Amino acid sequence: MPDPNGFLRYDRRLPARRPVPVRISDWREVYPPAGEELIREQATRCMDCGIPFCHDGCPLGNRIPDWNDLVRTGNWDAAVDSLHATNNFPEFTGRLCPAPCEAACVLGLGGQQPVTIKQVEVEIADAAVARDGLRPRPASVSTGRSVAVVGSGPAGLAAAQQLARAGHTVTVYERDDAIGGLLRYGIPDFKLEKQHIDKRLAQLTAEGVRFRTGVEVGVDVTAEQLRAEHDAVLLACGALQGRDTPETPGRPLRGVHQAMAHLVAANRVVAAAGDGKPALATLPDGTPIDAAGKHVVIIGGGDTAADCLGVAHRQGAAGVHQLDLYPQPPGERDAERDPWPTWPWVLRNYPAHEEGGERVFAVAVQEFVDDGTGQVRAVRIAEVTVEKVDGRRIVTALPGSEREIPADLVLLAIGFEGTEEQPLLAQFGVTRNRRGAIDSRPDWQAADGVFVAGDMHRGASLIVWAIAEGRAAAAAIHTYLGGVGDLPAPVDPARQPLAAR
Ligand SMILES: Cc1cc2nc3c(=O)[nH]c(=O)nc-3n(C[C@H](O)[C@H](O)[C@H](O)COP(=O)(O)OP(=O)(O)OC[C@H]3O[C@@H](n4cnc5c(N)ncnc54)[C@H](O)[C@@H]3O)c2cc1C
Ligand code: SF4
Repeated sequence: MPDPNGFLRYDRRLPARRPVPVRISDWREVYPPAGEELIREQATRCMDCGIPFCHDGCPLGNRIPDWNDLVRTGNWDAAVDSLHATNNFPEFTGRLCPAPCEAACVLGLGGQQPVTIKQVEVEIADAAVARDGLRPRPASVSTGRSVAVVGSGPAGLAAAQQLARAGHTVTVYERDDAIGGLLRYGIPDFKLEKQHIDKRLAQLTAEGVRFRTGVEVGVDVTAEQLRAEHDAVLLACGALQGRDTPETPGRPLRGVHQAMAHLVAANRVVAAAGDGKPALATLPDGTPIDAAGKHVVIIGGGDTAADCLGVAHRQGAAGVHQLDLYPQPPGERDAERDPWPTWPWVLRNYPAHEEGGERVFAVAVQEFVDDGTGQVRAVRIAEVTVEKVDGRRIVTALPGSEREIPADLVLLAIGFEGTEEQPLLAQFGVTRNRRGAIDSRPDWQAADGVFVAGDMHRGASLIVWAIAEGRAAAAAIHTYLGGVGDLPAPVDPARQPLAAR
């Protein structure tokens, strides 16, 4: 029986972040472990609601009140079993999820701070690894059926684990030199140290999943070959087509790059150097893309922009501006606009924002300014208003509001336009829809025997959705292959996040 007064006795508390001067001098994670006492106290705040709205916020259907109570009573083994029943990789979501479950927590309705659900999650996951590692759960019987998974992000990996545990032979094909998708080279180590991916990969390998890196499906191996070798194919290639701004004068200048080019280069340096000091990050052709000593301008306001900010500080930028097209959001939920338990539009301060830099809201870049040699020296911005007219975004610059911000390095973090156009699509007979995503039938098939999941299907989204879709697509593949029983399918292809309209 949970403690009905827990939330009255304890305030919401998170572990203190590592001090800014310390953490920007390395690439280690920002948060230290919370410690058992704090996390049991925080789990005690959960009321075990009759209708736990936190479940509605989470596409995985995590059994949040159950594991909160198991942590409260110190029952850590049962807590991790409960967590793993719905989530293959709680150490990823516990670290990285923006936690729609917390936005939906019933405590938020009464003006209280929500339960620290994701902190409890990550502590359960880490405690299990520290206690006895990630025990493999290989299938006892093989089905003799084989599945190719294309793409090794959280969607592909979740599906691979579900299918391997159900007895299918699974091969994951990844064009990169390492497994993990955006978790590996997109998301920086200060948010997710890569040892967590490696530990999971050891578990998946012990469960029989085969990994083939450096293989671009559609180029190094054709769709036809893959279909001949396997009984089903899952496409989980992500939504990595970065949005650009070709119409802005000066876009071709040196020093103006896609944010992902910067993040991937930085993450590769960190991966190569272990925990050493930053070396110079470069593009694959050797062009430096390092922020050291530079005035950096980041365009965009989401996860990718915040990650660029944290990387720029760790590389030793001289100064950073982060530009956002939209006005500064309110500090608190606007209940008219985004009633509880939906995901609110509020100002989100990531740990990277505490580390420095200046955020500038309601502005748009008018020009990338040339220093006379073809290298960017500034961005010229104007204050703007943004309106939606007939579903279209109309951006209007305020006359006389233009000014320049010095810039040696400009990073475009203005979103993604769906999955990349690549040979694999035509070979499998699938086409990008209006949003650049790949549609599927209700059983996750995009073409006969070809399934799709994660960002490739949903458009750029979140890790928790990628895992949920990977699990659901695995369940559909298991049924398609005539597997015995049903695998869990937390979402269907049409499922959308909780919304008021
Ligand atoms: C910078 C950044 C930070 C983010 N931070 C967060 C965060 O903090 N929290 C959060 O919840 N979400 C975050 N996200 C979103 C999250 O990372 C994605 O939603 C998630 O990784 C999608 O998983 P996926 O498996 O669908 O695809 P991905 O992780 O994109 O993986 C797709 C993989 O497919 C491979 N691939 C593509 N084509 C081929 C081919 N032809 N052959 C072989 N392999 C191929 C790619 O190389 C890639 O490795 C972030 C995204 C970015 C860009
Ligand atoms: S909504 Fe909040 S308080 Fe209620 S069960 Fe979920 S986590 Fe606990």
